[in-house]
Amino acid sequence: MTVERRELSIGGRTIPLEIHRVPRARRIILTSLPTKGVFRLSLPRRISLAKGMEFVSERHDWIADALTRWPTIQPVGHGSRVPFNGEDLLIEWEPKAGRRAVLMGNKLIVGGPEEHVPARVARFLKEAALKDLTERTVALASAHQLKVAAVSIGDPSARWGSCSWQQKIRFSWRLICAPEFVRQYVVAHEVAHLRHMNHSADFWAFNAELYGGPVTPARAWLRAHGSNLYRIGV
Ligand SMILES: [Zn+2]
Repeated sequence: MTVERRELSIGGRTIPLEIHRVPRARRIILTSLPTKGVFRLSLPRRISLAKGMEFVSERHDWIADALTRWPTIQPVGHGSRVPFNGEDLLIEWEPKAGRRAVLMGNKLIVGGPEEHVPARVARFLKEAALKDLTERTVALASAHQLKVAAVSIGDPSARWGSCSWQQKIRFSWRLICAPEFVRQYVVAHEVAHLRHMNHSADFWAFNAELYGGPVTPARAWLRAHGSNLYRIGV
């Protein structure tokens, strides 16, 4: 699957378009990916790029309509707020503070040049996410004699976590912004996949057992608020 990039100009906005070659696809598919901020065009082998672009331009109105449902990204800078562990942190830029962002109560103190603030906030969130999610995963897996090969974080657009056949578990770093009960649910979900690589009734029973209660409230939280976590502009 190869990826090419183009840009779409819609209502004064420039929107990236990813073009994928999907040899087994039987028709052209255009998808809106709000959390990644791109549209994806999937092309079967025998369809030319020009044909694909024609397909896209014929769908100008559909694209404009889909765009209205994209989340607006909240810029991160001095005085803005980012969710962290279910609460709001106030970003305070202090040019003389150190390179590493420091948490003080409900404030995050960020030093250095102002244009580096978003990157430093991102680094703080990702480091905190990796530490927290790794500790929870290792603790839960070892308490149930399950082997986890690796824990990592990323920024997938459509899932909060994944578990591979190689026992590697990967999470969205954005989970560090969610309340603890939500994070713990996602951890229990992926750890449960170490035993059941499916979503069978047995899997869900084990997920609830690992979580220590019904998983419905955490799942409901993600459905209701999960898209907000993609608005953080870092
Ligand atoms: Zn799952």
